[in-house]
Amino acid sequence: MRGYFREVYKSVYTILVGLRITLRYHFAQKVTLQYPDVAPALQPRFRGFHFFEIQKCIGCDLCAKACPVDCIYIEKSGPRKIDKTDGIARGGALHRFAIDYAKCMFCALCCEPCPTDCIHMGDVHDMSGYDRRSMIVEFTELAQRGLQTPQPLWMQKRPLPEWAEQRKRQWIERGSPHRDEMVKALTESDPKAK
Ligand code: SF4
Ligand code: SF4
Repeated sequence: MRGYFREVYKSVYTILVGLRITLRYHFAQKVTLQYPDVAPALQPRFRGFHFFEIQKCIGCDLCAKACPVDCIYIEKSGPRKIDKTDGIARGGALHRFAIDYAKCMFCALCCEPCPTDCIHMGDVHDMSGYDRRSMIVEFTELAQRGLQTPQPLWMQKRPLPEWAEQRKRQWIERGSPHRDEMVKALTESDPKAK
């Protein structure tokens, strides 16, 4: 009989422990972010859609080999090499550098082995599309427009909330000083030429 009541006591006790956490959150102050009018609260180590510096990419495929779901596609015409004097990669053309975000799980394993530190997890937190094909981001096409990161569809429309305008400006300003080198990465160049 004593064992029976001990079990009942333990059950009630464990339920109360669980409920204590629930009750604490129940009475805590509620904070609802009115997204998209208000910017989402991203943490400093947030891993969003990639930010890719194509002008530094040597097309070594190490990121693609490290990717556990094989969602990085790279096509190039030949080897590329970093020029140590200006940190820009030259040589073969990068015909394609794409990531399929329908498969990507934002693990950042592709960023770790990159020898030129040109692929990073970015601060773009959302992306939508009308089909699976639109989940493939062609970074080589973005480079032609001086962009290093994709933009969500809704951010390409107007009017935008102030925080979104500001974030778009930051993305454009980040890539624009390198636009010429980004475009040159798409064609073959002499490794010694500047
Ligand atoms: S974040 Fe992970 S899954 Fe996504 S491309 Fe990089 S290695 Fe692949
Ligand atoms: S590991 Fe870096 S340099 Fe090599 S292909 Fe990937 S992004 Fe380019």
